Amino acid sequence: MTQILEPARAIDVIVETDVLVVGAGPGGLAAALACARAGVRTVLLERYGCLGGNITQVGVEGFAWYRHEQTVDSEGIGPEFEARARAMGAAMPEPQSLSHALDAEMFKHVGDVMAQEAGVQVMLHRLCVAPIMDGPVIRGVIVESKAGREAILAKRVIDGTGDADIAHRAGAPTHKTPKEAMMAASVMFSMSGVNPQRFMEAVRADPQTYADWRGNGEWSIETTGKEDDMFSPFLRKPFRKAAEAGLLPGALSTIAGTWGAVSDQGDLTYLNLISLPACDGTDPDDLTAGEIEGRRQAVHAIAALKAFMPGCEDAKLRNFGMTLGVRDTRKIDAAYNLTAEDVRGQGRFEDSIGIFPEFIDGYGLLILPTTGRYFQVPYRSMLPKGVENLLVAGRSIGGDRTSHAAVRNMMCCAVSGQGAGVAAALSVKTGRGFSELDLAAVQAELVRQGARVW
Ligand SMILES: Cc1cc2nc3c(=O)[nH]c(=O)nc-3n(C[C@H](O)[C@H](O)[C@H](O)COP(=O)(O)OP(=O)(O)OC[C@H]3O[C@@H](n4cnc5c(N)ncnc54)[C@H](O)[C@@H]3O)c2cc1C
Repeated sequence: MTQILEPARAIDVIVETDVLVVGAGPGGLAAALACARAGVRTVLLERYGCLGGNITQVGVEGFAWYRHEQTVDSEGIGPEFEARARAMGAAMPEPQSLSHALDAEMFKHVGDVMAQEAGVQVMLHRLCVAPIMDGPVIRGVIVESKAGREAILAKRVIDGTGDADIAHRAGAPTHKTPKEAMMAASVMFSMSGVNPQRFMEAVRADPQTYADWRGNGEWSIETTGKEDDMFSPFLRKPFRKAAEAGLLPGALSTIAGTWGAVSDQGDLTYLNLISLPACDGTDPDDLTAGEIEGRRQAVHAIAALKAFMPGCEDAKLRNFGMTLGVRDTRKIDAAYNLTAEDVRGQGRFEDSIGIFPEFIDGYGLLILPTTGRYFQVPYRSMLPKGVENLLVAGRSIGGDRTSHAAVRNMMCCAVSGQGAGVAAALSVKTGRGFSELDLAAVQAELVRQGARVW
């Protein structure tokens, strides 16, 4: 490939802070809130124009759709997102669980308010393009925006990009699942103009279950059996009928999936119906192809719903997610990598920074936490190798495939985020590096902040 040499140049240092969090998804936002609440100067940097990550940018609204009567759930900033959203009119009852679906649009405002209240300095519309390194030590990042290139310096950095962008570029070892075996990407969308009564009558007349997920593509799953007869807001039949009627192109047999909530006003949201396999979210060519193909399929899905799903006859597209939804990219090789045994066997760790129920969803496995089982998330799973002053929060923490099907869930991303935020704050306050932190003090601060550690 032809290459050119980019000339070196001097750039302005626009901010110096204690802790810099890059990426404002459930992981990064929770990290920034926890860090600021622990009393240190915190900057939250985000490439798009809103906080919330996949919640607000992709439209992923099912924050705790796994929660049932026996579930022992995480505590702290994750449940706070849900409670705050409810209090601010940004959530609706979720149909399959004891939880509320977040309103992806209103949650943009909820995120703003929570960050402002905590005293987080929010910097939107800046893409982090490179770490600033001093040997193995990260000192900050370079950002690119409409203002050009700028530098931000920080005593500690938290990578909440979902893709481990910072860890990877700083030289920490990361790995990806082979593209063909990655969890599919999805173009998410919502519809308006749905008749909620007719829609719900049709759902109740033919209730779908998790066993109905079994079929093809992304929705082909193994369960423990106890999930099979439980209600799931799942749609496949309208698309089968549309295919039989010749309304869907022959090759389009994979449209199926879940809906999230239907409002009294006729919004049918969080339509998770389009699966795009072999799409690597760190490859812009794959992302381009996925966006275009996903929107094409979504338009077909809408035509099928209008024709074959009662209540959708007069409905229309309300919006596509701001961006393609990516589930699966880089994970760090951490000081401790979580295993399938940890998440399926109630893993316990002395360096626990939070708990998450036995909820596993991905790579063809679905286990719902209906029994009260839970695992602890170890601090070391956020600690990358080879780079100092850096922690990773959210879906790219260290672990194997099965553990990622658990820790990628947004509530667990908030757990690692809160843990990373508190650890970074205490690291700055005590002057100790991430490898020599007093973890009892981290746990005590997490408990003070309302998290459950044991
Ligand atoms: C279609 C789909 C459906 C899903 N359904 C569910 C569900 O029902 N329930 C559930 O719990 N989970 C679900 N997930 C998974 C969940 O949404 C993600 O795993 C979770 O949001 C990851 O959180 P995160 O904070 O690690 O990253 P993200 O939510 O991806 O946030 C990362 C943030 O970092 C920003 N960023 C990235 N790179 C840079 C950079 N270089 N510079 C600056 N900013 C950057 C991004 O813009 C983003 O705001 C779903 C995922 C998808 C794609």
